[in-house]
Amino acid sequence: MRSYKAKMVEPIRLISREEREAALDEAGYNAFNLDARDVYIDLLTDSGTGTMSADQWAAMIRGDEAYAGSESFHRLADSVSDVMGFDYVIPTHQGRGAENVLYGTLLEEGDVVPNNSHFDTTRAHVVNQGAEPIDCPSPAARDPDSTDPFKGNFDLDAGWALVEEVGEDAIPVVVLTITNNSVAGQPVSMENIEAVAEFATEIDALFVIDACRFAENAHFIKEREPGYEDVSIADIAREQFAHADAITMSGKKDALVNIGGFAAMRDETLYEHAKQRAILYEGFPTYGGLSGRDIDAMAVGLREAVTPPYVEERVEQVAELGDLLSERDVPVYLPTGGHAVYLDASEIFPHIPKDQFPGQELVCALYLEGGVRGVELGGFAFPGTDRPDLVRLALPRRTYSYEHLEHIAETAASVLDNAEEYSGLEIVEEPPMKELRHFSAKLEPVSE
Ligand SMILES: *Cc1c(COP(=O)(O)O)cnc(C)c1O
Repeated sequence: MRSYKAKMVEPIRLISREEREAALDEAGYNAFNLDARDVYIDLLTDSGTGTMSADQWAAMIRGDEAYAGSESFHRLADSVSDVMGFDYVIPTHQGRGAENVLYGTLLEEGDVVPNNSHFDTTRAHVVNQGAEPIDCPSPAARDPDSTDPFKGNFDLDAGWALVEEVGEDAIPVVVLTITNNSVAGQPVSMENIEAVAEFATEIDALFVIDACRFAENAHFIKEREPGYEDVSIADIAREQFAHADAITMSGKKDALVNIGGFAAMRDETLYEHAKQRAILYEGFPTYGGLSGRDIDAMAVGLREAVTPPYVEERVEQVAELGDLLSERDVPVYLPTGGHAVYLDASEIFPHIPKDQFPGQELVCALYLEGGVRGVELGGFAFPGTDRPDLVRLALPRRTYSYEHLEHIAETAASVLDNAEEYSGLEIVEEPPMKELRHFSAKLEPVSE
């Protein structure tokens, strides 16, 4: 059951198979190069692609566009204080803006930053300060068959081994990403959050939470962690942040907006320092590169994210897609995470060698069979690594219906049926920065 109905609709269309073939050829077999109008169901990302509520749209009309000290800013500060428990907030144009402001303030050349897993922009901002990002994922994360309920956890053994190796003075900040985006959107337990906070305290480091999907994480804690069954999502959400010194947030995730983000912190001195960097890169620290109306939409969205039954329905819809795919024998990464279902391309295309990009071939096949756009997060996106060839189908929030999910599952099933028709890809044109090649490289089917 869904606790909302549509007030506004946006037409989408499934163009013909011939048109899809032509569009994909034109796009160089790279779904990032497709025009959105040629995509029927767009699962490229859940970032900024969701549907806002009537209350959010109404709040936008109230937006105060004052350059400094706007009412919109104060409403956001109240929301952040009520929902997350931080006294100081700096709005930014999106999550990476918050990363630039905070990590630019906290890090110096030669520092080392452990994180359960760095999201790619977080990693880039740590590197951009001359510091070294180190991932400390739970060993369960690497095991697709593990039924561990909190595969997103930070591995404290790895954390302590790092301290042993580089010394605690080299580690000014410890980061925890909830949910763990780079590990299939898997959650982090409250027990682990507390243990990481303690670890940070013991080595005299600041404890920062990458809070993008804090509401989805709270839902998993309520569902899976003993003692939280009867605690409200709002209370769990606040408890997650109780031990953190600061957070970075992308409003495009669990603040339910199309653009926006913020950094928030407890310490006034850190706030004063971060504000200076915010002025340089984002704008005056009460608007941070956003219009007042965008800030108001975010202030309302944050509260909606912890108001039942929003997040329960959200995470259930993702699980529903996972079930529809599993019922059709499509191999998916289990358990499903908070925002996306991941398909295992090497199982669907066992005849395609890794260097012919089975994951990217699967992205193309899903588009050809049913106009569905996903994204490859395997050997094509991460060259030179041995990452499994997974394809992510990320669900925008409050956007698609059950019938759409059925279409996605049917599409994946028909790819599975026609698997032998797909033969792998080779790169024909590549940008100079290999790490970013998946955004713009052009490919073509391998010649027999
Ligand atoms: C999306 C995301 C970011 C960056 O936020 P943007 O709004 O895309 O700049 C940082 N960390 C995580 C975990 C994310 O999912």
